[in-house]
Amino acid sequence: MIHSDECPPIVILTGAGISKESGLDTFRDADGIWSKVRIEDVATPEAFRRDPVTVQQFYNHRRAGLLDPAITPNDAHKALARLQENWPAEVMLVTQNIDDLHERGGAKNVLHMHGELLKARCEACGNIGDWREDLTISTPCFVCGSIGTKRPHVVWFGEMPLYMENIEWALTHCGLFISIGTSGNVYPAAGFVNLARLRGKAHTVELNLEPSEGSALFHECRHGPATEVVPAYVEELLSGSAPHVNTISDRAASDV
Ligand SMILES: [Zn+2]
Repeated sequence: MIHSDECPPIVILTGAGISKESGLDTFRDADGIWSKVRIEDVATPEAFRRDPVTVQQFYNHRRAGLLDPAITPNDAHKALARLQENWPAEVMLVTQNIDDLHERGGAKNVLHMHGELLKARCEACGNIGDWREDLTISTPCFVCGSIGTKRPHVVWFGEMPLYMENIEWALTHCGLFISIGTSGNVYPAAGFVNLARLRGKAHTVELNLEPSEGSALFHECRHGPATEVVPAYVEELLSGSAPHVNTISDRAASDV
């Protein structure tokens, strides 16, 4: 059994690896004509200024893909929602993914550091709202009336990730950091493990299909498909059998 007074706050970071088993193409797996498009040509502010038609088409294609009824949250998404619901302390869920599979799997208050594919933002007035249709260069903003200023609410290369202050604060105050399905080579997310480990004194765990580039930085690594390793680890946490999870008293002792 888990004892609520001993359970530390948890920060979880997820990446493309958790959504892959839901059938969702990652950027680099895109097929068809998009396999011929360089990410740099469709996912930067410069690309949007230079060729908004191509950029909008790229995201229209991805948005339609996400809305395909065949795409559903998998057991890894659902396990994290279960952890969030049953863990006695806070479980902050941070994702690099722009899909909504965590939410559809039942997770709450997901911080999408790279934005959300099912939202659009107006570059003229800053309004952000839900968006499930195609965007074009003639789509009007219903708030300010500007034409062609609406863009996918996603963070492009060269733009600042979102919620960084909240995330960094949580990393330095958590007792357990879990990284799931991320390559470990894209900053700032790749630096989260060090922040949690060195400043937060947290136990750090990598759950990934294979060792990531940053594997050596974690206390503990478990490798395999997300739909297997994530539910298994969540069960260990909730049953109190996960090894080495620093309790609040462990962390207090290590301060001495
Ligand atoms: Zn506007």
